[in-house]
Amino acid sequence: MKPLIDGYRRFRAGAWPNYRELYQRLAAGGQSPKTMIIACADSRVDPQMIFDAGPGELFVARNVANLVPPFERDAAYHGTSAAVEFAVRVLEVRDLVVMGHGLCGGVRALLEGTPPTGSDFVSHWVDMARPARDRAVATGETGEELQRACEHECVKLSLSNLLSFPWITERVNAGKLQLHGCWFAVASGRLMLLDESGQFAPPAEGDD
Ligand SMILES: [Zn+2]
Repeated sequence: MKPLIDGYRRFRAGAWPNYRELYQRLAAGGQSPKTMIIACADSRVDPQMIFDAGPGELFVARNVANLVPPFERDAAYHGTSAAVEFAVRVLEVRDLVVMGHGLCGGVRALLEGTPPTGSDFVSHWVDMARPARDRAVATGETGEELQRACEHECVKLSLSNLLSFPWITERVNAGKLQLHGCWFAVASGRLMLLDESGQFAPPAEGDD
């Protein structure tokens, strides 16, 4: 806990004075982020840092392997779906971004099996992405390339599952909401965007 308290003190002494006014405005007026990001819980892929965003800009949900389950209205506790509903229906974000990443442990569990210590929840959670794994395996890639292919397929699977939410499809069709996919390479700090042809490519010239 000590590193956290030390960090908090640095925040209060360093960033807070610069952000005080913004935080106070956000406290009084509420948040109105325009973008939701669904990212992996991995400690190396913090969307706020990668997109250099400040308080109030990004509504973020993070989970193992940045997965969005299909639309299911039942008695289970749907944490990610609840976050998506809040962002889309209550906050009315304009952009919804699924960000995958390199060296993803959740994707590795999907490909190689979950370690026994992840048998209570992780195993069942990543199992929802089995179609993504099957598509990645079908590419014939192996090793790192297979892992990357599966990370890419998991982003596509989450995007496709987002479209199973009726109020998302409705907004997408009405031009009120845009869905995007991207993938962050931990080792190089590079971001790749999913294009319309289904490929991941660096942002267009001038955007990088
Ligand atoms: Zn991950």
